[in-house]
Amino acid sequence: EDTERTVLIEAHELAAKFYHYLLNNTQHGKAAKDYLRERGLGDKLIDHYMIGYAPEQWDTLSRFLDNRKFDPALMEKGGLLSAKHDGSGYVDRFRSRIIFPIWDRDGKVTAFAGRIIGDGQPKYLNSPETMLFTKSRTLYNLHHARPAIRKRKQVVIFEGYMDVIRSWSAGVKNGVATMGTALTAEHCQMLGRQADEVLICYDGDDAGQAAAMKSIPMLEAAGMRVMVSMLPKGKDPDEYIAEYGPEAFMREAIDEPVSVTKFKLIYSRKNHILLKEEGRKNYLLEAAGIVAELDSAIEREIYLQELSREFEVPLEVLKQDCLIKHQELQ
Ligand code: ATP
Ligand code: MN
Ligand code: MN
Ligand code: MN
Repeated sequence: EDTERTVLIEAHELAAKFYHYLLNNTQHGKAAKDYLRERGLGDKLIDHYMIGYAPEQWDTLSRFLDNRKFDPALMEKGGLLSAKHDGSGYVDRFRSRIIFPIWDRDGKVTAFAGRIIGDGQPKYLNSPETMLFTKSRTLYNLHHARPAIRKRKQVVIFEGYMDVIRSWSAGVKNGVATMGTALTAEHCQMLGRQADEVLICYDGDDAGQAAAMKSIPMLEAAGMRVMVSMLPKGKDPDEYIAEYGPEAFMREAIDEPVSVTKFKLIYSRKNHILLKEEGRKNYLLEAAGIVAELDSAIEREIYLQELSREFEVPLEVLKQDCLIKHQELQ
């Protein structure tokens, strides 16, 4: 309902400011702030992303909302409070967590992500799906990033909130992230309306690469040219910046991405034992199939030449196989 939406948005906006205030101005918030500092987030970034802190008490936000006459049942429906098991009232949903407000496309706070301080499970706790918040249609930071995305016609997709925030400070103003879920067709359509090119910048681990493999065809289907940034083993963008600095990140990860074809070849390679004849053969067959997806004969030729040199297989032979596979795809 329209009025419920309006009230819930108002409650979220106030809660975001409240959590942010608690981070900056209370003794409890200090430990959280120290944690953020250690992770390289200074005051400017904390303010820009309105990062906050939810204390460990059960009633911090519930009392705040109650004082302002918000209906607790509606606040529960909106994901800010949880109903007590015995039905005797409501408690805060987020406790002892760093709070990241999630904005919708219009820049209204419609949900929160809460990170545990240090280790523990679950690492992130998100708002549930509500009338304000649908994960499959929300991209973190889109409202901040939209002007830069439109201007450059390019968007960078990350896996995590911290990756977006840290790379923003490194200079990536066109970065967004999913809500810890897989990219959806709706996300891709939203991005496709604003950008011609997308740079996938996922974590440099197996999960990140597998996610990139899944995202590529979806982003292409939405009409975008796709590039992939490959981070060194085990590092995510945030960790990369912490270790090597923002300039190295911009230079190595953002300005030097690989093509989708190159990425798929690297990905496929890991599944074959190239020291064995059988492995080499299977890899070459798969590689010919990957290259065959390219429309341009010139582009196909460039990748095939590389394969021909490396595996000492005549270029003509590779071209033959590749052409057959290419025609099958047409
Ligand atoms: P951090 O840098 O704070 O440790 P991360 O972003 O590197 O977090 P990953 O483990 O790489 O964390 O997960 C990527 C994203 O997946 C997170 O940013 C978050 O959105 C989501 N996520 C991770 N763990 C959980 C969880 N337990 N529940 C819900 N979402 C999660
Ligand atoms: Mn990861
Ligand atoms: Mn990560
Ligand atoms: Mn991380």
